[in-house]
Amino acid sequence: MTVIGFLGLGRMGAPMAGNLLKAGHRLLVHDVSADAVATLVAQGAKPAGSAAALGEQCAVVFTSLPTPAIVREAVLGADGICSAGSPAILCDLSTSGPQLAVELAAALPAVACFDAPVSGGIKGAETATISIMVGGPAAQYESTLRPLLEVIGKPFYMGETPGAGQTMKLVNNLLGAVAIGVTAEGMAFGIKQGLDPAKMIEVLNQSTGINSATRDKWPKSVLPRTFDFGFAAALSLKDTKLLMDEAEAVGVPLPLGRIVQDYLERTLEREGPGADFTAIAKVVEEAAGLDPER
Ligand code: NAD
Repeated sequence: MTVIGFLGLGRMGAPMAGNLLKAGHRLLVHDVSADAVATLVAQGAKPAGSAAALGEQCAVVFTSLPTPAIVREAVLGADGICSAGSPAILCDLSTSGPQLAVELAAALPAVACFDAPVSGGIKGAETATISIMVGGPAAQYESTLRPLLEVIGKPFYMGETPGAGQTMKLVNNLLGAVAIGVTAEGMAFGIKQGLDPAKMIEVLNQSTGINSATRDKWPKSVLPRTFDFGFAAALSLKDTKLLMDEAEAVGVPLPLGRIVQDYLERTLEREGPGADFTAIAKVVEEAAGLDPER
């Protein structure tokens, strides 16, 4: 059986790698965090020791890393995946933007490069119900990659153009982040007028206002005031900036995206670098004269 490499075993990478192991695949893994590696080794993976070892020893390598700069370095850098030998297939599951996907495909003509960002959060990664938006060469997708992606979620093939999956993902994340912003605004108004927040969410989820924030984020992380949904505000800001840059480059104005970007920047200022993106609600509440620490 082909040995699969997996680089980046964080909140999303660990459960995705775990699902490949559960399906019986042999996995070689690496992460800068020794604890993250140990967790997967306990499940049956082998430690690679370096990103370079993944490229040397694996036919297929997946990455699930925080930012485009980290992915670029991890793939093309001096000790990166492609420094000592290259895999036949490289599949980036990170949200890293279309420009990086184009850059990697151009830099690695002998490698079948795929961009395959995912959506559905930690829970979706654990239950293998995440959507996976894929761009890359059709032949290798059908022959090799699709069956592997079907183990970790539901793949949607967006086309051969490098970055096609990333573009789809940026669209999705704009809608997800705007849903949080507008839900925070509506909730702040209702609370200020004396409505009960839990009752409001119950009503919205039975009405046309329902969205991913009213359905998932408020019940799990905002109503209980835990602000721990599992997606960092810093990563959400990265996604929004990637989208805004791309949109500006192709002449598409996105005023709602600009507002969400501002909310995320203020969330990080207020809550610090570890903030979860659901803490946008606190920024909106404060502006409305409510006490976010209530
Ligand atoms: P995370 O910060 O939990 O995990 C990233 C992992 O990468 C960490 O274990 C870290 O130690 C490791 N890492 C960082 N630099 C490294 C390097 N140079 N070499 C090896 N390992 C390195 O992040 P996450 O939430 O798992 O997100 C990963 C990607 O998935 C991001 O691009 C994010 O935007 C995207 N994403 C996240 C979610 C979510 O709900 N968390 C949902 C969809 C997509």
